[in-house]
Amino acid sequence: MSEKKIYTTKSTEETFRLAQDLARGIGQIPLAVGLVGDLGAGKTVFVKGFASAFGVDPDQVNSPTFTLVNEYPTLKGFSIYHFDLYRIGPSDLYTLGWEETVGRKGISLIEWVDRAGEYLPEVSLWINIRHLGGDEREIEISFPGSSIG
Ligand code: ADP
Ligand code: MG
Repeated sequence: MSEKKIYTTKSTEETFRLAQDLARGIGQIPLAVGLVGDLGAGKTVFVKGFASAFGVDPDQVNSPTFTLVNEYPTLKGFSIYHFDLYRIGPSDLYTLGWEETVGRKGISLIEWVDRAGEYLPEVSLWINIRHLGGDEREIEISFPGSSIG
């Protein structure tokens, strides 16, 4: 049982705003958001838009490729944790504070969540971005826990 919505965006800004709008409707903390999609699909753009809804400066949001996780404090008393699993294997996850963080505090946004293997967390929001060519992207948002659909 899950609800699914599919959008097509035609620019970086449109993806940014879609994520921002989605984030504005979030009522549930802690929250884990999984992002899937090829390199250059727009996962980081999506995270920027999402985090901006909580007052985080999008220029501060970058894929934590070398730091493994970035923490962005919000004005709401919780942090946003930005993971990117592109370069790490499931066995590295314990060094990231994965278990204590994902789904336990604040909002976790996880790029390449499909690489978490056996540590795949229970995500409440699943974002799948597909490159359609040029600046066009198909963005599928699913809510695995939803009773609708
Ligand atoms: P990922 O994190 O998935 O590897 P990024 O978000 O870092 O991808 O990069 C996406 C790139 O594609 C950016 O340079 C962005 O400006 C560009 N882009 C072009 N059109 C779009 C779109 N419709 N949505 C998101 N990004 C887009
Ligand atoms: Mg990225």
